[in-house]
Amino acid sequence: MAGKTQAKRPVTKAVAKAATKAAPAASTRNAAAKGVPANGKPLTENAKLAKPTPPKPAAAKAVTPPAAKAAPKPVAPKPVAPGAKSGPKPKRQLNGATRVGIAGCAGRMGQMLLKMLAQAPGVLVVGGTERRGSQALGMDLGALAGTEPFGITVGDDPALLFDTADVVIDFTNPSATALHAGYAAKNGTAHVIGTTGLDADQQAAVARAAQRAPIVMAANMSLGVNLLELVVEQMARILDTDWDIEVVEMHHRHKVDAPSGTALALGEAAARGRGTTLRRVAKRGRDGQAGPRAKGEIGFAALRGGDVVGDHTVIFAADGERVEVTHKASSRELFARGAVKAVLWAAGKAPGLYSMKDVLGFSVGAQPANGG
Ligand code: NAD
Repeated sequence: MAGKTQAKRPVTKAVAKAATKAAPAASTRNAAAKGVPANGKPLTENAKLAKPTPPKPAAAKAVTPPAAKAAPKPVAPKPVAPGAKSGPKPKRQLNGATRVGIAGCAGRMGQMLLKMLAQAPGVLVVGGTERRGSQALGMDLGALAGTEPFGITVGDDPALLFDTADVVIDFTNPSATALHAGYAAKNGTAHVIGTTGLDADQQAAVARAAQRAPIVMAANMSLGVNLLELVVEQMARILDTDWDIEVVEMHHRHKVDAPSGTALALGEAAARGRGTTLRRVAKRGRDGQAGPRAKGEIGFAALRGGDVVGDHTVIFAADGERVEVTHKASSRELFARGAVKAVLWAAGKAPGLYSMKDVLGFSVGAQPANGG
């Protein structure tokens, strides 16, 4: 797998340091935006590194994951970005490293990602953005990561970020993510989307962008939840509608969308197992005189409180017995780990909408469900 190959190419800290020390933040990012490696070496020395290499035929072969064959990717008739450059962005590398940008770098996930990427082999952070007006604008990325300075400051220009990076990781909000997908399409930049709560229009914008750029979208980047989806789909296939399915989730008090994207993805998996769609059978919350439960319904309940990172339980309830399967996340690190895996996997892939199951290599044709 492409990701594994790249992960084995270490980027020494010295290179990362040189990249940041040799050039001030703005010029580093501008240089990188022009396709020039910002590692402090003379430009002539870097010319070969900076020169985009055309995508290898092998990469094109490798990008047809089982899921892509099993489930056609959502496509829309119109291109996303007028004036878009044609084709995916060639994999540009700096000393074997994939250049990574982080949208929403001051957020809970953004900070965790910065910290992880600072130590990850095979990647080099080249920029981070925040929303206009954010107090983090102008801060060094290292201050957010709790590490030594990166020599790169937080900006608010997604156009520059997507032009500079090979891959942008995006844990922001639905409207920002839909906008960012347009920049991914325009530049052919790989886009790893963790944002949840996208509505139908926003999901369609992402699907359109995926015609021109590789996009990995997953409501949950953890190995455990993606495995749970497979288990739930299988259980729903085996158990008939005498078994009521309910999805219960709990998250920290700051979470803004409900039910969580992961709960919806689990609901989608159950619906798929039953040969239907979630849209047809979802019951998203009950209040007041809700009436008796309809047969075949898939219900959701969302709890909010404290600092809970993310708990999900799918309940299969029949007369006289109940089966429950649960995933509990105790740290955001596992999502960040998954996102870093997705970054290494996505760099240089052909355009398309991929799921975390493609990245993890156990796709069975499931589509991501980041919708709200
Ligand atoms: P957060 O609110 O802490 O962080 C979001 C950050 O994005 C904020 O710092 C905000 O200022 C920034 N932002 C907003 N608009 C922006 C813009 N236009 N450009 C750049 N930055 C912008 O939230 P969080 O807990 O980090 O979660 C972010 C998203 O990721 C949510 O949708 C959440 O549900 C989702 N999430 C997904 C996974 C997963 O595994 N897929 C895991 C955790 C969280």
